[in-house]
Amino acid sequence: MKKFLTDIHTHSKYSFDGQSELAEMLAVAHGKGIDFYGVSEHFDYDLLCLPVLPRGLTDAEAYFHGARRLQGDYEGAMNVLVGAEFSYADDEKAHRAYEETYKKYRPDFIVNSVHTLHGEDYYDGGCYYTTGGNGDRVLRDKREVYEEYLGLVERSLLVSYPYDIVGHIGYVTRYAPYADASMPYEEYAARFDVILKTIVGKNKILEANTSVRDKTFLPTVDIFRRYFELGGRNVSLASDAHGVDRIAEKREEAVRKLKAIGFTHVTVPCKGEYIKLEM
Ligand SMILES: [Zn+2]
Ligand SMILES: [Zn+2]
Repeated sequence: MKKFLTDIHTHSKYSFDGQSELAEMLAVAHGKGIDFYGVSEHFDYDLLCLPVLPRGLTDAEAYFHGARRLQGDYEGAMNVLVGAEFSYADDEKAHRAYEETYKKYRPDFIVNSVHTLHGEDYYDGGCYYTTGGNGDRVLRDKREVYEEYLGLVERSLLVSYPYDIVGHIGYVTRYAPYADASMPYEEYAARFDVILKTIVGKNKILEANTSVRDKTFLPTVDIFRRYFELGGRNVSLASDAHGVDRIAEKREEAVRKLKAIGFTHVTVPCKGEYIKLEM
């Protein structure tokens, strides 16, 4: 039986941090024999909660127009999915903006991710610190930071706008300055159980995101194992590539680890339908 290659969660220069043009990304993906390739440019309306926008946002009109044209060009050669990555915030303004984007452009799929706390990206490092009595920068307690992050993830699952994939759970660990930055299931079991049961109950897809330095993917294997125990079967494979060099990175290693847990299929979301493909 044919094995399908999928990479559902990638960016291009339409995103602020993309390194390659979308046309280049698609040419390389096609060259690698990818069957389903999902583009999910950043829609960072979480930043609308800030008094001043810190940078430009993805030009939705240009992106959907350009990507739909390229999608047509690849018809019959590679399934290109024109999607979006929505960055969650505890902010009604952001939720409304996502609803409007969904209605206007009907992305083929949506990745819902947590990147920021009060508009500040974990990537920038500030979320891990507080200001001490003498004005010094003080490292916050890891447990407090991680619990706060998992609370954001929990609430992100309950949004009114549609989404298919829960993106990179564990993002907070990627940039954490702690000597041991891990977030094992057993230490945060109560939080993870609420999150994983919600994903199962809502029939969403848990993403295995291979854009992580010292591991195969995020969330970690122990969390996928618990998800499987709780009845979760929808998983997606995501390189989160921002340039041509990382498309489908670590895919085989990721498949091996997911299969060892018991997963047999990847789930590809497209226009509200789930396509199940043997891993
Ligand atoms: Zn992301
Ligand atoms: Zn991404």
